[in-house]
Amino acid sequence: ALAERLEDAWKKLRGQDKITENNIQDALTEVRRALLAADVNLQVVKNFIADVEKAALGAEVISGVNPGQQFIKIVYDELVKVMGESNVPLATTATAPTVILMAGLQGTGKTTATAKLALYLRKQKRSCLMVATDIYRPAAIDQLITLGQQIEVPVFELGSEANPVDIARQGVEKAKELGVDTVLIDTAGRLQIDESMMVELARIKEAVKPDDTLLVVDAMTGQEAANLTRTFHEQIGITGAILTKMDGDTRGGAALSVRQISGQPIKFIGVGEKVEALQPFYPDRMASRILNMGDILSLVEKAQEEIDIADVEKMQSKILEAKFDFNDFLKQMRLMKNMGSLGGLLKMIPGLNKLSSTDIEKGEKELKRTEAMINSMTVEERKNPDLLAKSPSRRRRIAKGSGHAESEVSKLVTNFTRMRSMMQQMGQGGMPAMPGMGGG
Ligand code: GDP
Ligand code: MG
Repeated sequence: ALAERLEDAWKKLRGQDKITENNIQDALTEVRRALLAADVNLQVVKNFIADVEKAALGAEVISGVNPGQQFIKIVYDELVKVMGESNVPLATTATAPTVILMAGLQGTGKTTATAKLALYLRKQKRSCLMVATDIYRPAAIDQLITLGQQIEVPVFELGSEANPVDIARQGVEKAKELGVDTVLIDTAGRLQIDESMMVELARIKEAVKPDDTLLVVDAMTGQEAANLTRTFHEQIGITGAILTKMDGDTRGGAALSVRQISGQPIKFIGVGEKVEALQPFYPDRMASRILNMGDILSLVEKAQEEIDIADVEKMQSKILEAKFDFNDFLKQMRLMKNMGSLGGLLKMIPGLNKLSSTDIEKGEKELKRTEAMINSMTVEERKNPDLLAKSPSRRRRIAKGSGHAESEVSKLVTNFTRMRSMMQQMGQGGMPAMPGMGGG
């Protein structure tokens, strides 16, 4: 799957200290493979990879963020860009009714999406009329009527003997009569694109001049989505798309292709069979979903915002010189707090996001206790943790002051000292582990 492939690519880069033309090739190959495996159109993949490479090689190195994380961020940003940056809402018109035409193959979820949209609009205090033009399947009209009753939205139909173009035209007239602000025209689909379906759709479009022509695409169709989008866009002209069945085990490739090929936005996604299961499409969320590897991206963003790089570097050299003391430790803990709760932070780190909430709670409690103990230390003691290692009476005082057992204070001091000497031995920077968290 796409997510796993990208995770592999990420792992390969993660040990490097800088993105170069050489070390990025493996990662790019993985992204290319992943996208092809997800049935993204070849041309779409080529353009995408070229953009990612350009952006990655031009990227500035961010301290505290490894190249793997940075690479993922770049892939993410490009994904967002390809999918259109922001949400594009349904068309609205100054004079009612706004006409929305639904198009797509049979079984993609057109009729369901019609009802979903009607409910979505109704919740925004807008009024709708749904129009049933699928005269080919006996149950199709009934399906829309049933949905209409369920969501309390009227349905216009003329039975299965009438002509779809006439039904659509009269449906819009009816909407004017009723004074509703939006007409949603459901249409028939075939299992495969065929000439007569296209001709009929084109005629309906010509007759009602829709403000929005939405292609309904089944997200599970992968590569087919590309061809489908091209054909519909060339022959009918679409102004947007709805990606359905996103609740299933989809590969995500369809989202990329639809936008790239038509240049038109995906406006909504369907996430279930129920009429409520519709969500506006957000390119950034979809990109995260496609990458699907813990929310590493927000971590990169937060790191950029919150961490004072100079501060981190100062701390690292202190560690190397064994000057890292409880003041630094407290500072680092506050830094982590700035970045949100420990739980939130850990969830963002791939691999650690599987920690149970009890583990996280335990860790958070532990951190609070540690902070309380450090707060009870004198300035001298914070600067010179060795004072505490040597003096039981100091430890006793801190225990009393912070409301903890003496043994806990001893443990904190031991862990801290051990950690510090470990960091020295490793002879490299990096954020030290938190004493009290699993150690001792
Ligand atoms: P149409 O032929 O294009 O009108 O498709 P329908 O609206 O009749 O839907 C076909 C099938 O797909 C039905 O069983 C729907 O319940 C199902 N369906 C539609 N949208 C979704 C969705 O977003 N998620 C899931 N899981 N099923 C959907
Ligand atoms: Mg239908």
